[in-house]
Amino acid sequence: MNPPNDRHLTIIGAGLAGAVLATLLARRGWDVEVYEKRDDPRKRDLERGRSINLALAERGRNALRQAGADEAVMAQAVMMRGRMVHFADGRTDLQRYGRDDSEVIWSVHRGELNRILLDIAERAGARLHFDLGLQSVDFDNRIAHYGGRDGQSRAIPFRTLIGADGAGSSLRQAMAAETDLRERSDFLDHSYKELEIPPSPGGDFLIEPNALHIWPRGRYMCIALPNDEQTFTVTLFLPNAADPEAGVPGFDTIRTGADARALFDREFPDASALIPRLEQDFDGNPTGVLGTLYLDRWHLDGRAVLVGDAAHAMVPFHGQGMNCAFEDCVALAEHLDRTADRATAFAAFQAERLPNARAIQHMALENYLEMRDRVDDDDYLIQRALERL
Ligand code: FAD
Repeated sequence: MNPPNDRHLTIIGAGLAGAVLATLLARRGWDVEVYEKRDDPRKRDLERGRSINLALAERGRNALRQAGADEAVMAQAVMMRGRMVHFADGRTDLQRYGRDDSEVIWSVHRGELNRILLDIAERAGARLHFDLGLQSVDFDNRIAHYGGRDGQSRAIPFRTLIGADGAGSSLRQAMAAETDLRERSDFLDHSYKELEIPPSPGGDFLIEPNALHIWPRGRYMCIALPNDEQTFTVTLFLPNAADPEAGVPGFDTIRTGADARALFDREFPDASALIPRLEQDFDGNPTGVLGTLYLDRWHLDGRAVLVGDAAHAMVPFHGQGMNCAFEDCVALAEHLDRTADRATAFAAFQAERLPNARAIQHMALENYLEMRDRVDDDDYLIQRALERL
């Protein structure tokens, strides 16, 4: 096996950041190979799965434009002008994100976005390998070991590994065995469950499509983002442990679909009426945990570097995890252009992006408190209204 040429880069993970980074680098003339542990999502039958969506903001769109992906992605995006707050008494209020429709965010379908980005990466010249997950790394000899469903392990040489393999990154784990990354994770004592609002019998959206809907209820809440197939993905955020004295439910007391229906009927009655399969969704979908990952070191000299969730997973309440991961991709591609020495490029990339990622992680935690509490607060609404004048 020949060692790769000096323009070769190996990306681990063909998710959102991996696909965008592969495109940006291939367009700049890098020889890019990508290893993904899952199957190619473009080849799967279009079985009806869960529709998970993400809020795409200007930071993310900037990277998509540079990758030549913005037009294809925006063709399936739904505009969200602001937060539509659903109060406990049934009133609603749209709090715009900006002055007009030039300052909005967009709801995009995660699966569709990934498929579009993979097509674009391949067209740019990146070579994608599916069903090959990184298992271990011999950094001294620059050999990476991958495995797939056939149970065979493959040893493949590399010059540099770029970890775009998400919050549970295998590359991060391998790097941590070589050097102390000063890694710590803070998990929230809240988790989430995804549900779905289907289209109306006539095929229309059942509630205002151009908004991010929020049902704030103090220490817990529910949100809904539109999909271009006229559905909404609803996410229920609850504490892990109920606080019965304060009347706050938790996943320890809301255990079944029937419990969830009773909670919705009581606390989110307008939403409950829109989710006919609430019991099945609740029982069938996994409960997701929420956490923030902090590292003080994102690279191992010039041999490995981390981007996106692998470097700085965050709680989703600012809708910026993917957007921030896309910004990493632009920054890393630019730093690799500036110097031939990869260790220098990675150190400069970390120096630029780590403080930004920390700031966004902090804002995401703060926004959680705001979405849960303050958007239901009259003083805050008045203040927002005055800001809009
Ligand atoms: P991922 O998307 O996790 O991709 C990692 C890829 O690596 C996957 O394809 C995985 O299969 C692959 N992989 C994993 N291990 C290996 C291995 N060993 N070898 C090879 N491949 C491997 N962000 C937003 O910007 N807006 C939002 O509205 C938003 N909402 C969110 C809602 C929720 C409930 C959650 C949990 C997150 C949300 N995020 C949002 C955050 C966003 O999902 C992540 O920040 C984003 O997916 C990070 O992209 P990534 O490419 O770094 O990681």
